[in-house]
Amino acid sequence: MELTVALGGNPNSGKTTLFNTLTGARQHVGNYPGVTVDKKEGTYIYNGYKMQIIDLPGTYSLTAYSAEEVVARDFIVNEKPEVTIDIVDASNLERNLYLTIQLLELGVPLCIALNMTDVAKNRGMEIDTEKLSELLGIPVVSTIARTGLGKQQLMEAVAGVAKKKEKKGPLVISYGPDLDKTIRQMQEEIEAAHFLTETYPARWIAIKYLEKDEQILEKGRLANLATAAKLETTVENIAVYLQETLNIYPEALIADYRYGYIRSVVKQGVLTENYDKNRLYLSDKIDKVLTNRFLGPVIMLLVLLGLYRFTFVYSEMPVRWCENFFGWLGDTVSASLPEGHLKSLVVSGIIDGVGGVLGFAPLIMFMFFGIALLEDFGYLARVAFMLDRIFRIFGLHGSSVMSYIVSGGIAGGCAVPGVMAARALRSPRERLATLLTAPFMNCGAKLPVFALLIAAFFAEDQAMMMFILTMIAWCGSLVIAKLLRMTVIKGESTPFIMELPPYRMPTFKGLMIHTWERTWQYIKKAGTVIVGISVLLWAMMTFPALPESEMQKFEQKQEAAKAAVSPAVLQEYESANEDTQLSGEAQALKEKLGAIDAEAVEAGLRYSVAGRMGTALESITSLAGFNWRINIALVGGFAAKEVVVSTLGTAHSMGDIDPEESGSLSQRLAASPDWNPLVALSLIIFTMFYAPCFVAVVCIAKESGSWKWGAFSMIFNTVLAFTLAVSVYQVGSFFQLGL
Ligand code: GDP
Ligand code: MG
Repeated sequence: MELTVALGGNPNSGKTTLFNTLTGARQHVGNYPGVTVDKKEGTYIYNGYKMQIIDLPGTYSLTAYSAEEVVARDFIVNEKPEVTIDIVDASNLERNLYLTIQLLELGVPLCIALNMTDVAKNRGMEIDTEKLSELLGIPVVSTIARTGLGKQQLMEAVAGVAKKKEKKGPLVISYGPDLDKTIRQMQEEIEAAHFLTETYPARWIAIKYLEKDEQILEKGRLANLATAAKLETTVENIAVYLQETLNIYPEALIADYRYGYIRSVVKQGVLTENYDKNRLYLSDKIDKVLTNRFLGPVIMLLVLLGLYRFTFVYSEMPVRWCENFFGWLGDTVSASLPEGHLKSLVVSGIIDGVGGVLGFAPLIMFMFFGIALLEDFGYLARVAFMLDRIFRIFGLHGSSVMSYIVSGGIAGGCAVPGVMAARALRSPRERLATLLTAPFMNCGAKLPVFALLIAAFFAEDQAMMMFILTMIAWCGSLVIAKLLRMTVIKGESTPFIMELPPYRMPTFKGLMIHTWERTWQYIKKAGTVIVGISVLLWAMMTFPALPESEMQKFEQKQEAAKAAVSPAVLQEYESANEDTQLSGEAQALKEKLGAIDAEAVEAGLRYSVAGRMGTALESITSLAGFNWRINIALVGGFAAKEVVVSTLGTAHSMGDIDPEESGSLSQRLAASPDWNPLVALSLIIFTMFYAPCFVAVVCIAKESGSWKWGAFSMIFNTVLAFTLAVSVYQVGSFFQLGL
């Protein structure tokens, strides 16, 4: 027999851990339709039941205040799972029961997994599960999700709930004389009008109206405008009345009564606390040090630096293996294909493009492992907590900090997971401001660009330069966030206090799953899109090809150069290989032929679509000091910022340039008359702030739920970056810097 079982509960109550122990590898992550909340499904077989288990997003309530809450509620209401398991964190019983009460008010078949009983016990809390079960009228099973303890009994109880024939009605609790009267009156109207009653219990709808639940209000207006208007008026009247009499909003009063109900349940012998109230838990002791006002920020910087050091040191070898593999693949394929467009497409376009991205996969994996470690341990919550107050000044939230860090806050992240990390934010406006500014961080793709330019023009103190660039990125992002919050995304922040979850020893399995999930997302997302971009870019730099007649001119030039030397010299040149020491004349010939080659490449490039674009843009971009070659690189950078380096290499007619080994290119740039430190600085600033790469834009559009914001980030960022670059270049030129 098949059953659908939903797992609901507060964030951090152990849902995912329980889900993992139940379903093991038999799981699958998707998306709920229309929203960007992950939907995890898996199966569990028990005693002839095939249970389809859904890990719902963690929520504190079932009122539609956030996307997670809407998703969790819609799933339970619309998909009608046979059983919902409510995971309750026993060490935080009263707070967690708030959600339980709402599930009971909805009248869904429910079963409680009383999780973290080990933590509760350590804190000296004793919970009488039988009593709790009796008072709430539903099964309650103690579990420790981390060890799998109680799993069998829980699923037995779930099967029991599923088997039960008569279903219990929704829980009715009193909200005090004033509200009770109003609720009853509204309930009658709702029932009489059959207003949304196929989907929700009548009393529940009345309560949601009082709580001003946007989703229900909207559905109500669509279903029956007259009844909806009447209900809304009733709510307005009672709100005014409560304001006058009790000086409170209906939703706050409702919450008070729910907590009151919970307290009364808990007080009836369910919970005995026998600990010394003055004793500090281990977590509190650790926090005394880690979030200390003075020590805290210092430790924070050290930890984050340590994380990146760890990442770069340990991923260096595997990244090189990957690069070597793709290098070998390129050579092998290159050797087996005939000269021509196909070979060029496959080798330069596809293998180099995709290889460049996949080559970073080990680095990404190490970084995510480190982040998962800090996250599961509970440290990242502290970092966000410490920066919360600063971020609020700029219209953001402590949860935005994570997003910034993942995007490359310490140089070398990626805006794609960074933008996705903004999901942690509950306020849609803060979330939008975060995901629009996170891409200004110095991601791993901008790094080779900076490394190249720093090596060429700011070689004296490279580390200091990198540090300054990191500061510029953070300050810039915060200021821009403030600007956005004062203009296009104006609005209040939700007063959401950041909580500090207790520190916990991470489990190996949990770490592995976290790391792999994120790495795989990176590989999949980047891998698919990059193939397309690489092919497109290759085509733009290849077509239209220089006409045959033009090509012949260069060939003729080379022939002429060969004819001008003596046969002996020509013979020496032609029989030489890479390492041969050439005589003066042969060397001169070699250089001359090379120069003609370079000229041909340049002419070809100028003739291609990309070249024409670069040339056309030159009249504007010269304000920022960019010539046509830089323009091509920057156009390529719209796709992915690494492309700036490889394209600069090609555009400077050096053939294939590996972004990692740009030493010779940097020398070339340093020697070029078109370049100076001021141009380099202007280019660095432009690269830092201009449009996010293509994958990030897609991600921004998806996460914000609208292509409008994807387009906004491309246009706004580019205009902003150009303004900054022009300012840098013009001011610098005025003071004759860089000359
Ligand atoms: P979710 O947000 O509800 O999905 O919570 P997670 O499953 O991610 O769990 C949050 C943290 O609590 C993880 O570090 C788990 O390892 C830990 N955890 C989960 N269940 C238990 C438990 O029963 N006892 C203890 N001590 N820790 C647990
Ligand atoms: Mg989870």
